[in-house]
Amino acid sequence: MARALPPETSGDEGCPAMAGLAALPVFLNLNGRRVALVGGSSAALWKAELAHAAGADVDVYSAEPCAGLVELARVRPRVRLVRRAFQADDLNGAALAIGDIEGAAEAAEFRAAAQAFGALANIIDKPALSDFQFGAIVDRSPLVVAISTDGASPILAQAVRGRIEAVLPAAIKLWAAAAKGWRESLKTLALAPRSRRRFWERFNARALAAGSAPPGEGLFTELLAEVERDPRGSEGSVALVGAGPGDSELLTLKALRMLQSADVVLYDDLVAPAIVDMARREAEKIAVGKRGYKPSCKQDHIVALMIELAGQGKRIVRLKGGDPMVFGRASEEIAALRGAGIPIEVVPGVTAALGAAASLQTSLTERATARRLQFVTAHAHDGKLPEDIDWRALCDPGASSVVYMGVRTLGALAERLLAHGADPATPALLVERATCPDERRIAGTIATLPAKAAAQAPSGPCLILIGAVFAAQADVDPAHRLAAAAE
Ligand code: SAH
Repeated sequence: MARALPPETSGDEGCPAMAGLAALPVFLNLNGRRVALVGGSSAALWKAELAHAAGADVDVYSAEPCAGLVELARVRPRVRLVRRAFQADDLNGAALAIGDIEGAAEAAEFRAAAQAFGALANIIDKPALSDFQFGAIVDRSPLVVAISTDGASPILAQAVRGRIEAVLPAAIKLWAAAAKGWRESLKTLALAPRSRRRFWERFNARALAAGSAPPGEGLFTELLAEVERDPRGSEGSVALVGAGPGDSELLTLKALRMLQSADVVLYDDLVAPAIVDMARREAEKIAVGKRGYKPSCKQDHIVALMIELAGQGKRIVRLKGGDPMVFGRASEEIAALRGAGIPIEVVPGVTAALGAAASLQTSLTERATARRLQFVTAHAHDGKLPEDIDWRALCDPGASSVVYMGVRTLGALAERLLAHGADPATPALLVERATCPDERRIAGTIATLPAKAAAQAPSGPCLILIGAVFAAQADVDPAHRLAAAAE
């Protein structure tokens, strides 16, 4: 299957119409250009710093400059402070005219002067009188990201900036700088266009997964060797990635990066659609749910599919609910992929138990009363309660237990616990769809929970939480919770 081309090379069958772009983002090279700035406020100071940082010679006109502007002009030779009110011909020869101007008449006069001298104008907080706006900036120069809401909400722009900052690896600046240098070196090598693209694809994959590591000394030659060895890029890979219990905010940054560089995403039915949507737009998304009681053939099918796709050189993200290493049959997948010689990476996720603890605001351990924490599955190969559970451990009043896949066998589980001497009054809690907006809790004790749960017939994924630490939760009225969730 052909990999989708990046959007910039795919629009040649007619011009796709672009509807209503609020503003055209451009990245101005201000080296050696003059910027005229009118105003002495701290807002003007910030604009002076920005223009200076972008290479401009900045002339600031202000009869009463703030201390910061005075200091800036003192330490930056390219910032010149003119201590008087602005005159129209101050804008002569300026590429940009920026003003922090209160009065409407003065602002209009400033705008007219800018137009007369062919300078683009920005008047701070007066979008109607401005030719351009400053957006929020993520500065990893030479990589620069600018965000505009067309004046709708600077606070929203800041929030979006925060998101982007969070997903960019700390060292991306160094990678972008390296790319800038390597561009020229690569040109002199006269590589075939396909190989050149392959080089940058490999580079990008490394850069986005780099975290805080800078590009290594030998990386350029290493990537070249990789491309020469494998010009079509047949080196596929699989990442087993934890998607967390439901709330998409609980995804790790690494998981997000993996999703955004994947060619194919195979996802379980427990993974929320919002998380699958975070994958690269061009990635192929395949649901490989294995609900029900015949998971083995499905499992073989999933493994075979991963090996086939990796064999085609695809980067595969195998997205699993919670953490991939907890009741996720990861060992089988890892063994099969290793056997097929496919590189594997594992990215942890928040397992359901920890998501539930967070949403309950209940610590699973307590210094004196709950020194042990155990995760147990109550679902054997045949769908029944496993016979070989360590019942003494589960009955231990000094432990907190989290039972995965335990709804269908809850009655049998409670019976066995009581038969092994568990206190019937031990708090027991069922949490359905932990961390999701429709999370539901059913509170009781080992003795009462099975009947309560059966009466409410939960249909989503559920955990059974057992132990003294859940005592306070056992009193929570689930009807109250449901009402609160519905509000
Ligand atoms: N790897 C997953 C567990 C997979 S087994 C993890 O680390 O969470 C599937 C079981 O996990 C479900 O039957 C249920 O018991 C539990 N589970 C997964 N997501 C859940 C959620 N949001 N709320 C409650 N239980 C959940």
